[in-house]
Parts: sequence; structure tokens; C-alpha cells
Amino acid sequence: MTVGRFAPSPTGRMHLGNVFTALISWLSAKKNGGKWILRVEDLDPQRSRLEYARMIEDDLDWLGLEWDGGGIDGAGASVSYIQSQRGEIYEDMLQRLDKTGLTYPCRCTRADLMATQAPHESDGRIVYAGTCRPERLGGRVEVDENRPERATRLWVPDEVISFTDRLYGEQRVNLAEHCGDFVVRRADGAWAYQLAVVADDALMGVTEVVRGSDLLLSSAQQIYLYRLLGFDIPEFAHVPLLCNEKGERLSKRDTSLTMEELRKDYTPSHLIGLLAWYAGIMPEPFPISARGLLPLFSWSAIRKALKLKIES
Ligand code: GLU
Repeated sequence: MTVGRFAPSPTGRMHLGNVFTALISWLSAKKNGGKWILRVEDLDPQRSRLEYARMIEDDLDWLGLEWDGGGIDGAGASVSYIQSQRGEIYEDMLQRLDKTGLTYPCRCTRADLMATQAPHESDGRIVYAGTCRPERLGGRVEVDENRPERATRLWVPDEVISFTDRLYGEQRVNLAEHCGDFVVRRADGAWAYQLAVVADDALMGVTEVVRGSDLLLSSAQQIYLYRLLGFDIPEFAHVPLLCNEKGERLSKRDTSLTMEELRKDYTPSHLIGLLAWYAGIMPEPFPISARGLLPLFSWSAIRKALKLKIES
């Protein structure tokens, strides 16, 4: 059975781009009679708020994108679908990684600051130079008396990981060049996105990961983790980011495109119809419900780039 998911970070109200991703992910899972689960990715304590997660749920309800598991109340499950409540699970995963001998403590600070966030390409990726690799330090693990807390980093091999994205086709990523050894736990104890997302998708039985194309290359880091942890690798399908006519990504800063504003101007079926038209699923932006769109949905119709005539 297909299990899809939507995994928003509750750092603000959903905007048109999030709605687009949620819609395509929902259609893809439901088209095959599958399940669609909702996970709250609130690993970054500074930016995440549960009240935003509540608004996301309310917006999904309004759009008619019902989820079959997860959400804030976990829909009756015994384990939470809120990442900040899943620390024990991530701890267990880290212990498994430690057993491979590929993790090491790192006292560098810059890159690990970003580690709880999904590394959207615009965030300026940092390739780790391997400064704290035990082999660099002659096998020593350096102790900094002033900074006993360390991040935990995962050694990556200098080899290509390839995978096929459902929309963007074959991808080849050498992690040593793309990111270098990456953080799985920050020095302040916060769990890194990459570790949490793999643990969660695997343990929640997710079979297809549909999300924005800015996370396309992250899939290689995740595939590496899936292999080390011995989990089945899901299918990956990245969807284009909505851009304005200049090709700039629409962002949360474009306040006219937040659900707060969109809900004033559109009915759910007008908004779904518009997004389906942008996506390439419908020839015109006819009002239609998400459920009504199911027979029309197919991945082969989805465009790989979306430039919209939207003021932003
Ligand atoms: N939580 C991430 C975000 O909101 C999405 C991560 C994912 O779908 O893997 O950008």
C-alpha cells in the first residue's frame, strides 16, 4: 500500500508553495488508494510553534486534504507524530549509527547551526572540510575544555549515490562533494533534520516522499542513512517550487500568498483548481475539489518548473 506524507515545519502559516506540495503529495498517495500522514517537523525550537501546526491542520481541513494518521493528536496512534516528542526514537537511531563506527564528535560550530533545518538550497550549503575527523586528528578525539558539548557528525564515503526521482529522473550525488560529513545531532542536543526525517519516514512506513525540489539532493544523504540503518528506501518525487515571473522562489515573506490572505480571496475549490492548472493537471483553472481531481491526476502531467504571474 502507498503511504505518502506531508511534513511541514510549523514556523509560520502555510503559503501557496506549501499548499501546492501538500496537494500533489495527497493526490499521489490517494490516487493509489493509499494513506497520507501528517507529521509536525518542529525540531528547531527557536522557530517552531505548535499554534502554527494547528493552523496548518485547519488549512488542510479547509482544503479538503484529510490525513489518515498523525497530526497533532496522532490520530489515536501510540507514538507521537510531533518530532519534538520523538527524541527517544532518534536517540536509538543514533546509537545504531554509532555502532557502525562512522560517527564522531565535532567541535566546529558553523555548519551545525543549520542542521535542524531542512537544507533548502537557498540557505547556502556548507561542505564540511572534515576538520574533526579522527583520522585528521591522528586518531585522537580532541577535547575542548571550554566546550564539552559536541555535535555528532557522520562520515560519508567519496562515492556516488544514485537514485531516480519520479519527476526529475536520474540523480547522482557524491556526498563528499555535496556536503561532506554531516551533522546528525547538534552540539546543543537538537536532532538534525536528516536523521529525524529518515527515522520518521522509515518507522511510519512511508513508501513515497513527495516534497519541494529544493530537497532533491538531500535525498542522497537520506539514502545513505537508510542504508546504514537497514531500512527500505522509499520512492522520491520532488515537485517544482512556485516561482514568480523572474524565476524567484515564492516564500513566506510574500504575505499575500499565505493561507490567511488566500482564504479571503478564494474558495477551496477555486484554489485547488488554480494549483491543478499551474501543475499541468488541468487545461483551465476550473474550480474543483481535491477529491474531484483524483481521476485527472497523473505524474506525467506535472510540470518541472513553475513560473507564475503573481506579484510578489
Ligand atoms: N519540514 C520540511 C519543510 O517544511 C520538509 C521536509 C521533508 O518533506 O522532508 O520544509
